[in-house]
Amino acid sequence: MNVMDEIFANIVDIKRFAVHDGDGIRTAVFFKGCPLRCRWCHNPETLSDKPQIGFFGHKCTLCGECVRVCPRGCHETEGGIHRFDRADCVLCGKCADACPADALKKYGERKTVAEILDVLLRDKRFYEESGGGITLSGGECLMQSGACAEILKSAKSRGISTAVDTCGFVPRKAIRAVLPFTDVFLYDLKHIDEAAHVAGTGQSNGIILDNLRFLSEEGAALEIRYPLIPGFNDGEDAVTGAAEFLAALRGIKKIRVLRYHDFARSKYVSLGYRDTMPDAEKAEDPDFARRIFVSITGVETV
Ligand code: SF4
Ligand code: SF4
Ligand code: SF4
Repeated sequence: MNVMDEIFANIVDIKRFAVHDGDGIRTAVFFKGCPLRCRWCHNPETLSDKPQIGFFGHKCTLCGECVRVCPRGCHETEGGIHRFDRADCVLCGKCADACPADALKKYGERKTVAEILDVLLRDKRFYEESGGGITLSGGECLMQSGACAEILKSAKSRGISTAVDTCGFVPRKAIRAVLPFTDVFLYDLKHIDEAAHVAGTGQSNGIILDNLRFLSEEGAALEIRYPLIPGFNDGEDAVTGAAEFLAALRGIKKIRVLRYHDFARSKYVSLGYRDTMPDAEKAEDPDFARRIFVSITGVETV
């Protein structure tokens, strides 16, 4: 048996023809599991490393199919109200498969590296024509760095451009595992102040900043991603602090300031999570932050 058939990864999705996950046309793999808990996370289905069932009540037509197929009696539709009790759910996915209204969705599947590569290699021609490639993302893909390294190595050996999208809150050995096979790191920088970082993400930024310095010293190509979050890092002091930190690093090819939106709000409710997303109406225009980054770092900022 091929070693690629024996290494598994927990993923949420493989998105072909992605245009927001690096240069050109790309295929992006979204790994499941993240060590941070950013209040604004727009992929809450990737936070847990376990499979989950999402229930989107506004789509439910009360057809009763999920009640019929669930082996654990988790669904009820009596009295014109759908009740979903997760306590006894064994995550078999039968209800999601049976739902005709897309109101139930299973997040998370275990795939071999060979299965993932099979999808990634389909669009090699488009990568070449567009200057694209593959991107490993999440969640935090480097929580599964062994699988990532195998995927990246295999892609590189076929001449495919590779990118790793990371929050940086991972052990150094995870970074080292993928470094030789990664053409560019899409690296999140959320806040330079440690207390603010803990308040917004649940974790210190110490490891994140150390890993970013390490990648810079190793000569890695870096694209910094700064999500501009209302009431968190959208003040002039926060942006200036981040820019001054970046100005001391080398290897930064681009800074990308990400506009905040709250399109993922319904996903929090569907997963039974508390909705922690900030109000999108308070979002600042990213252009003011872009001007600060350019003036302090001299790096192309988009
Ligand atoms: S995933 Fe399986 S056990 Fe869980 S609610 Fe759906 S059908 Fe029932
Ligand atoms: S199968 Fe889907 S649409 Fe039908 S009752 Fe269940 S959740 Fe609602
Ligand atoms: S690092 Fe990314 S995936 Fe993880 S919680 Fe933060 S926004 Fe979500």
